[in-house]
Amino acid sequence: MTDIATPTRTKEILKKYGFSFKKSLGQNFLIDLNILHKIVAAAELTLEKGVIEIGPGIGALTEQLSREAGKVVAIEIDQRLLPILADTLSVYPHTEVMHGDVLDMNLSALIEDKFNGKKVSVVANLPYYVTSAILMKLLEERLPLENIVVMIQKEVAERIAANPGSKAYGALTVLAQFYAEADIVTIVPRSVFIPQPNVDSAVLRLRIRQTPAVEVQSEEAFYRVVKASFAQRRKTLANNLLHNFFGKERREEMFNLLEEVGIDPTRRGETLSIAEFAALSNVITRQSK
Ligand code: SAM
Repeated sequence: MTDIATPTRTKEILKKYGFSFKKSLGQNFLIDLNILHKIVAAAELTLEKGVIEIGPGIGALTEQLSREAGKVVAIEIDQRLLPILADTLSVYPHTEVMHGDVLDMNLSALIEDKFNGKKVSVVANLPYYVTSAILMKLLEERLPLENIVVMIQKEVAERIAANPGSKAYGALTVLAQFYAEADIVTIVPRSVFIPQPNVDSAVLRLRIRQTPAVEVQSEEAFYRVVKASFAQRRKTLANNLLHNFFGKERREEMFNLLEEVGIDPTRRGETLSIAEFAALSNVITRQSK
């Protein structure tokens, strides 16, 4: 059988089942084998490892993953794709398709249930409309993952992999790099999908850290400080923290805390390293105890 991810075979499958794309579900299917091979290689799979795929579509990526990994669980929200996947993936008995919205799933229980202690990666060509929500769920739930390799919008990948001081550096960068080392595997033109999306894409790899990059007393306080610091990019750190975290009545306390950790209040959020955000959230946590 030829690979699913060629224009001819994909069109054949879509025609056979009379499938029409739903834009609202971010359905852009991959038709380029080179890109698929790069995605799979980036996940560093072996037959001893397992994979969770989010949004298998008609199985273009699932098929390639099934050839490299010992177990694949693919989660698809669109019920219309289930009979198609049962057909296209029928030769891979170690591949299982689950119907549901990944955002509603208990992935920690799923990993325990399905993977028998194997190392697990998440590999996906993510639907654009929920990229950040899915990534934050995978990271914040501290799932026992080895890595996450995802095709996402190029600008979002650049934001996540950015360095402090750069234009792309923001709350998503800090939160993602707190849990993982990020790198961009390759940039992907829109011509490798049907239908073609309106944006270019990139393959992002997140290698999950054994322990977070910096020590924080309270992850919740850390998130709140980071999000507040980037609330309005053009404002200074002090301005953002005052309006989005402390409130005017705690103005003096805020300046004292910034001084204590040696952070100039006139700096902007985008210039702070992850370690500086951690130091700041740690003195704030201590203060509020
Ligand atoms: N993996 C396929 C490929 O590369 O050709 C399809 C990728 S397509 C960009 C995204 C897929 O995610 C679609 O099949 C869509 O139905 C599915 N999807 C969208 N939202 C989802 C959600 N919340 N949970 C699970 N699957 C979702």
